[in-house]
Amino acid sequence: MQGLRKPVARPQAEREPPPAPAAAGEQPRQAEPWILCRECLHPVTRDRERISVAGAHRHTFANPHGIVFEIGCFSRAPGCARVGPASAEFSWFPGCTWQVAVCAACLAHLGWGFQSPGGGNFFGLILDRLIEPT
Ligand SMILES: [Zn+2]
Repeated sequence: MQGLRKPVARPQAEREPPPAPAAAGEQPRQAEPWILCRECLHPVTRDRERISVAGAHRHTFANPHGIVFEIGCFSRAPGCARVGPASAEFSWFPGCTWQVAVCAACLAHLGWGFQSPGGGNFFGLILDRLIEPT
């Protein structure tokens, strides 16, 4: 046994537990529930990103093919990727250009990213393609 050796005091700093890794931007899920992609459950956006555009959060629009979409407006959608060129054709928000927005994980079409002439942008996401927290 080596028990007779006097233990060497360790420097103070080494006795402190290491700080937990910083979880930047991570919020408790119950406080900031994510809105998920219905296809793959990828976190797409959050309740706090809901905004009103042209006086409402929810809008019901038909595309040129007559397909009706109910969308909600979100200031940000970190789980979405914008794809394709920006277009001004048939824009539901006058003056805004749009791009298709897909789930960044499974590429399901979730809605559109809109860009206003003033430089602001937001997402209009198809609500029945998302799982909203209850
Ligand atoms: Zn997905």
